[in-house]
Amino acid sequence: MSNEKNNLKYNVVIVGSGFSGIVAAGILADYDLSILLLDENIHLGGQLLRKIPVELGDYSSYRPEYIKRIGFRFVESIKNKKITIMNRACLVGVYPDHRLMIESERKEVLSVSYDVLLFATGARERFLPFKGWNLPGVYSTGLVQVLMKSSGVLPAREMLIAGSGLFLFSVGYEFLKNKGKALAILEQTGMMDKAKMLPQLFHQFSKFSEGGKFLAKIYLSGVPVKYRRKIVEARGKGGNGALEEVVVGKTDASGKLLVGTEKIYKTNALAVGYGFVPNIEGPQSAGCHLEFSDRKGGWTVKVNEKLETSVENILAAGEITGVGGALKSINEGKIAAFSILHKFEKITGDDYSRQLKKLTNERRRHLAFMDLFNSLYRIPPGALLDIPDDTVVCRCEDITMGDIKKGIDMGFTTSRGLKTALRVSMGNCQGRTCGPVVFDLLSLLGKQEPGAIGPFHARPPLKPVSIDALAHAARAPYL
Ligand SMILES: Cc1cc2nc3c(=O)[nH]c(=O)nc-3n(C[C@H](O)[C@H](O)[C@H](O)COP(=O)(O)OP(=O)(O)OC[C@H]3O[C@@H](n4cnc5c(N)ncnc54)[C@H](O)[C@@H]3O)c2cc1C
Repeated sequence: MSNEKNNLKYNVVIVGSGFSGIVAAGILADYDLSILLLDENIHLGGQLLRKIPVELGDYSSYRPEYIKRIGFRFVESIKNKKITIMNRACLVGVYPDHRLMIESERKEVLSVSYDVLLFATGARERFLPFKGWNLPGVYSTGLVQVLMKSSGVLPAREMLIAGSGLFLFSVGYEFLKNKGKALAILEQTGMMDKAKMLPQLFHQFSKFSEGGKFLAKIYLSGVPVKYRRKIVEARGKGGNGALEEVVVGKTDASGKLLVGTEKIYKTNALAVGYGFVPNIEGPQSAGCHLEFSDRKGGWTVKVNEKLETSVENILAAGEITGVGGALKSINEGKIAAFSILHKFEKITGDDYSRQLKKLTNERRRHLAFMDLFNSLYRIPPGALLDIPDDTVVCRCEDITMGDIKKGIDMGFTTSRGLKTALRVSMGNCQGRTCGPVVFDLLSLLGKQEPGAIGPFHARPPLKPVSIDALAHAARAPYL
């Protein structure tokens, strides 16, 4: 590693310290390579670990589940290895000549070069707009989990949990464990649809047993679990418009509301989430080819079986190649590490082939689970078409469903075209919140194939950068 002021160089840079990133870093660190592992998060371990800070001590009844215990072991195992770790460091730009721009914890802009780059940037939550989804008191399920895990805080003593996917049950379980009262868990998919998962039982036993534990706690606590339900509206009546009640209705198999089935829940807190979408912006701005598949969770980074992307010396692992859970991310972290070691000639071709064969067989099972899981929990067309015209879809730019319909009617049928016409997804979040739903609407309303619509473009800065860091960059001659 060379270091000229803030101009750094490493053999391998790993962006993201979730399960895929830490597993890869742990293997690579045994082979005399300079490695940088960076993450915007305060902790190692990505979305899954978000550890309770020590100073909160017994305040929380937090005890890690099986998969989290595996993660904590990975984190422990890399602590004494030769890896440069930067937490609270955000990748904000990817440039030619193997150069990255990173905003550091000290709000400095660093220029970092690499021989090989591994993207392990994971996933974020998927949203489905409804009337009142921007009221105070409406939380994303991920935020509720972060508040519980990282700050030892319950957002409210009593809460309604709704949306789609297994994550609702994980959040419900943790909420109950932390002495919260869940009014109900409302799932968009049908109960019988879950039977499609049964053939996976043998291969994904740990996932099923964990899910069983969550459900047992939820049922034994007397929390009603209802299927084929959707949120119709969140209503707030006070001076600040804070949430007071949530209207929920039954749906048909396409996700459309069955009018007349509406029921009102009185509550000040609603947690809502619809699964995850991959964080592809880094690889996208590096020029890596992307592919769209509902069965993978949306737009993903296209990789071969060695996890190489279409750009030489850039690899991708974990949720960004398809949303498939922690075990898939661990498996891909290993594959990426061995592919990198082979590139640097640190292992023989025979050793590499042996490892690749074993890990690829294992990966096939994770991909089969990913396929089924994403197909089961995708947002059905009826639920998207049901969004009322006056509902805000792009919260940063205040663009409603009606505006989007008009834009598509006027012929703006690509992501780029609609963005230019309406400024949709052009705000602070750069489409990270509304992008996936706008894409689905373009596909449904414009009756088009995903390839014809294209993903929203990603440009630096990939994430908001502080003025401090920009001022520092302006003074830095090496950038
Ligand atoms: C909000 C949320 C909560 C989740 N909770 C659970 C759970 O409780 N149980 C469970 O089984 N699964 C959970 N998952 C799914 C979990 O993420 C996967 O199962 C798996 O752990 C993913 O590992 P990964 O390495 O692919 O990515 P992740 O764990 O998502 O790690 C990716 C890392 O990349 C970092 N990153 C992204 N972009 C940048 C950037 N530009 N600069 C710097 N760093 C960046 C992120 O901060 C993150 O730490 C959750 C997912 C999300 C989105």
